[in-house]
Amino acid sequence: MLSLTYEYKAMPTNEQIQQIEHTLTVCRKVWNFALRERKDWLNSRKCQTNACSIVSEYITPADAPYPNYYEQANALTRAKAEFPELATVHSQVLQQVLRKLETAFVDMTRKKMGFPRFKNKYRMRSFVYPQLGKSQVLKNNQIKLPQIGWMEYVKSREIPDGFKVKQVRVVRKASGYFLMFTLECDVNVPDTVASGHPRGIDLGLDKFAATSDNELVERPRFLNTLHRKLKLLQRRLRNKNKGSNNRHKLNRKIARLHQRISDTRKDWHFKLAHKLCNDAGMVFVEDIDFRTWAKGMLGKHTLDAGFGQFVEILKWVCWKRGVYFNKVDKDYTSQVCPQCDTHTGKKDLSDRLHACRECGYTVHRDVAAAQVIRNRGVNALGRSVLENACGDGLTGTGNRLVKSQRNRKNGVQARFKPAS
Ligand SMILES: [Zn+2]
Repeated sequence: MLSLTYEYKAMPTNEQIQQIEHTLTVCRKVWNFALRERKDWLNSRKCQTNACSIVSEYITPADAPYPNYYEQANALTRAKAEFPELATVHSQVLQQVLRKLETAFVDMTRKKMGFPRFKNKYRMRSFVYPQLGKSQVLKNNQIKLPQIGWMEYVKSREIPDGFKVKQVRVVRKASGYFLMFTLECDVNVPDTVASGHPRGIDLGLDKFAATSDNELVERPRFLNTLHRKLKLLQRRLRNKNKGSNNRHKLNRKIARLHQRISDTRKDWHFKLAHKLCNDAGMVFVEDIDFRTWAKGMLGKHTLDAGFGQFVEILKWVCWKRGVYFNKVDKDYTSQVCPQCDTHTGKKDLSDRLHACRECGYTVHRDVAAAQVIRNRGVNALGRSVLENACGDGLTGTGNRLVKSQRNRKNGVQARFKPAS
């Protein structure tokens, strides 16, 4: 099963906007209620058995089961009789809210995320229709959504042949409403075969990226102007009274600028990822957890560059273009010589050049790191691939075309052959 997400700008009518906002409000109420329920249950079991809490006591019967997804979904169905407002929203949409809450609690332990928060009207920004049913949902540039009806959207790209709309998420952003289609297709795409020209990529703060082919990518400067603008607006916020109309207007302006910054950055990331895939059969990056990076001294710059997002985008672009992608061990990439494997010791941040004492190899330090990453990636694949990869720059990259949009409809499975 192959699934893609396409995003389109929605063109809702005024009534549809009202319906969307109403849905968001109901979703928010369900989220807050369900979160409260879980919190109360947890708090009621916090105090010791032989002593009561001094601050507060939550009265939940001792045999009450933990309000997990199934408990809450059942309670939601029952609550519909009492609160007719709940029935005005598609039932699956509300179930998805509860499901999301369940995930949020699971992610706390699994991904070390924070405790789920209560949401105000700015924090609840999207809802999802998990199943659109078998009937016709698409017509020209319109989509049929439950309760909302036929809604127009800007058809900025065609839905590829053979794909069906499985889910639709309606998102409110600063610049309007958007639809995210989850498209599904019934084919199995085998993993990309590792072959072709290997390329290591080192991400850094001085230069955004360096490749093992001696290319350096500067940090994007165009974001600086936008950031200056943002700072200016945020300073102005101080002079506005809380709850005033002017403050609200300024906040809207700031939100639009934030979105513009993130859109611009994402666009640049995509373009760079495509450029890095050109003429490459394999791409390797360091396996770094950028969240811990962002907590350090250089935090602001790290977040600004959005390395985590870039790696995800690079992975996706590689997959789409049939380029093999892998992460390699990150330790000492900047302290090893790519030519002779000697440990050259730690470099200062001001040391821009890698000069090996053993073999005399001299190159830009980030390029050296990228070459170490490439060597590690190729070594991890084993000997047979290495010979193939180095012997001929472009062997095996033919499948790159098969995965592109154009050729997908010609039958993906038929063209792939098992690597033997
Ligand atoms: Zn050396």
